[in-house]
Amino acid sequence: MGRYNNPVNTEPPPINPTGFCCIKCGYDVSGSPVGGLCPECGKSVGESLRALQFAEKSCSKATASMIIGILSLVTCAAYGPLVLGPIAIVLYYLAKKEMAVGGYSKSSHTMARAGLIMGIVSIILFIAMSIFGYFMMMNM
Ligand SMILES: [Zn+2]
Repeated sequence: MGRYNNPVNTEPPPINPTGFCCIKCGYDVSGSPVGGLCPECGKSVGESLRALQFAEKSCSKATASMIIGILSLVTCAAYGPLVLGPIAIVLYYLAKKEMAVGGYSKSSHTMARAGLIMGIVSIILFIAMSIFGYFMMMNM
């Protein structure tokens, strides 16, 4: 049994994902070896791949957290924070968990934090308004 029977040695070189283009000239370099060069401009394919991997992603849960946080604030006088406040806070934690791996855009982090803050503020406002409303009724 020679070493050429080892499947590790017969494995093809790693191939770039499909739809993957050179960062310099935009030539489709998917299917070419990772260590190669762009056939069009000669730019390192590995460099393009790294740029692709570090491209900033956006987190949909962060966006949702912010939107629900806003809705919770808007519906503050109509029991909105009772339901929407906790959802905004939960979405913040889900987004934070998802973004913990890194590579997410700064705006997603900002949106998640805004969702958390608005969720908490809306709940505090709701409680404050409820207490205020209670005393108003007591004094009538
Ligand atoms: Zn190129």
